[in-house]
Parts: sequence; C-alpha cells; structure tokens
Amino acid sequence: MRSLLLHLSESKRLAPVIMNLGVSRRVARRFVAGETLEDAFEAAREINRAGQLASLDHLGENVDDEAGARRTAEGYLSVFDRIAQEKLDANVSLKLTQLGLDLGVPLCEGLLEAIVARAASRSNFVRVDMEGSVYTQRTIDIVKRVRAKHANVGTVMQAYLYRTEQDVHELLEAGCRIRLCKGAYNEPPELAFPKKADVDANYVKLMKILLPSGIYHGIATHDPAMIEATKNFAREKNISREQFEFQMLYGIRTDLQKQLVREGYRLRIYIPYGSDWFPYFMRRLAERPANLTFFLRSLLPRSS
Ligand SMILES: Cc1cc2nc3c(=O)[nH]c(=O)nc-3n(C[C@H](O)[C@H](O)[C@H](O)COP(=O)(O)OP(=O)(O)OC[C@H]3O[C@@H](n4cnc5c(N)ncnc54)[C@H](O)[C@@H]3O)c2cc1C
Repeated sequence: MRSLLLHLSESKRLAPVIMNLGVSRRVARRFVAGETLEDAFEAAREINRAGQLASLDHLGENVDDEAGARRTAEGYLSVFDRIAQEKLDANVSLKLTQLGLDLGVPLCEGLLEAIVARAASRSNFVRVDMEGSVYTQRTIDIVKRVRAKHANVGTVMQAYLYRTEQDVHELLEAGCRIRLCKGAYNEPPELAFPKKADVDANYVKLMKILLPSGIYHGIATHDPAMIEATKNFAREKNISREQFEFQMLYGIRTDLQKQLVREGYRLRIYIPYGSDWFPYFMRRLAERPANLTFFLRSLLPRSS
C-alpha cells in the first residue's frame, strides 16, 4: 500500500481529481497550514508562541518551466524579509526540483544561491530538502558548492538509503548542517533498506555520527524510539540541548511535540503551505495506514 500511494503521489492525472474533492482539502488541512503565505505565517506565530521554532516550506516540486522556477525563487526571497519584519523564529525549507533542477543544474544552482544569499543578509538559514534518489547526488553537489560561498545552507540525509553513511561523512567534512530523517520516497531494494527495522537501526547509527560532530543538526522524526535513543545518547556524551534540535511535521504527533518542549528540548516544526499540496499529502497518507483509513472513511457518505 505504501508503494502504491507513493507511486500515485507522482501522478499528474490523479492530482486534480483528488485536490478538487472538498473532503481531501479538509483532510489535507491536518498536514498543511493553508494555501497562502498568510496561513503559513499565522501557523508560525502560533508555533513560536508555543515555544517551538518553525521552518516554512512553500509546497511544490518538479517544476518543469523556467518561469515557474524563477517565480518560486522570487517568492522565497520575500519570505526572509517578512520573517525579519515579524521577528519570527523561522527559517525556510525548499526542494531543488521547485527551483528547476529537472531543467538543469545551472538554473537551479543560481536560484538557490540567490535565495541563500538573501537569507544570509537576514541572518537566516535555508534547508534543502532531499527528494527521490535520482536527485541525491545532484542535491549534495549543489549544496556543497553553494555552501562554499554562504555557510547558511544545509541539507537532509535519509536513513533508508545505503549510501547515506558515506554522504554524511562527506557533508560533515564540508561543515554542513544536516537534517536526519528516515526517508519518504519509493526506493528500490538495490538502493534502500526495505525493512523498517534496518532503517531504524541506520537512523540511530547516523544520529550517533551527527550529534558529536560539533555542528548543529536536526533530528527529524516522530518515532518515540528514535527520540529516546537521541536523548539517551546526548545525555551519555554530554551533548547539551542547545547543540541540536528535534524536528517534526506540522500536525503530526502534537502530543510528542508539546512533551519535548516541556522537557526543554529545541523543536522545529516544518510548516508546509501552498496550493500544490497533493504529493506532500499522499506521502503523509503513505506513512501511516490510519491516515489512509481516515481519509477513505471521510469519502463515504455519512449515514443519518
Ligand atoms: C521536519 C521533517 C522534515 C522532513 N524532510 C524530509 C525530506 O527532506 N526528505 C524525505 O525524504 N523525508 C523527509 N521527512 C519525512 C521522513 O523521511 C519520514 O517519512 C517521516 O518523518 C516519517 O518517519 P518517522 O521518523 O516519523 O518514523 P515512522 O516510523 O514512519 O513513524 C513513527 C511514528 O510517527 C507517527 N507518524 C509518522 N508519520 C506519520 C503521519 N504521516 N501521520 C501521522 N503519524 C505519523 C506515527 O505515530 C508513527 O508510528 C521529513 C520529516 C520531518 C519530521
């Protein structure tokens, strides 16, 4: 079911069908702050008030025209000014395929560099999300080159890929900040651990490489076992709570989110917004059978 949903998440035909259903919009609102930048700022204010940090993600991926990629980049440029004006504790997450990676590296890299430079002028930070494995190497290469000019950019490593341990070492050598996650795409067994237990074991192994590195990283997970392992390891190695942050997605495990803040950990919430929410929504359904059941139940007519 996970593979099927992830496969469907890439369907350009299914997207408008699902997105036009009122019920999809209602269910998606659990995971998406809204369609406008205003909605995202409202969510970020609330998250800051709750003692949490934010990362704003304007939804969109696989942009296939240059004008679209440039428009997306323009949108991000103004976000840093707004964050500064409103004194929000928030940074930005983005995807390179939003910035035209499918159209070529030079266009995408140039747009990313402009965004990171603007963020630097506002003392802010840009996180480059990691997408499917066809983009992994290009993403790492672009981030490393842009980072050599501006230090305020980092990326994401996915524990499900076999290659990740080596990539982590390479990025740490470059001084790069990393968000560690399990990985959300459909990957073949030649590239990624098929079993959850192996992904989890690799996640813990990678966390233990990242935390003592002296670089500020993000431990992104809703899995209580991963969170416990991180807390225990940090305690054991005298790594303070200011030296790393936990990260979670908007609307997921809010109970755990509150608990971490109560315990004094730094927690950043990833806030997706925008009208292009279909692939993101489908990945969230794929992660948890209960989400899919809830969605399918909502499609059924209510009995009187
Ligand atoms: C801040 C952040 C940024 C991310 N960025 C990326 C990225 O750039 N690239 C990428 O490939 N992936 C990214 N991901 C997604 C990640 O790879 C996983 O797919 C996702 O976080 C689920 O994994 P998990 O660690 O929560 O563990 P899981 O083992 O999947 O889940 C553990 C528990 O968390 C809860 N949970 C998890 N997912 C859901 C859900 N959708 N709905 C309700 N409950 C849920 C459930 O209680 C579940 O039992 C990101 C995740 C976070 C938190």
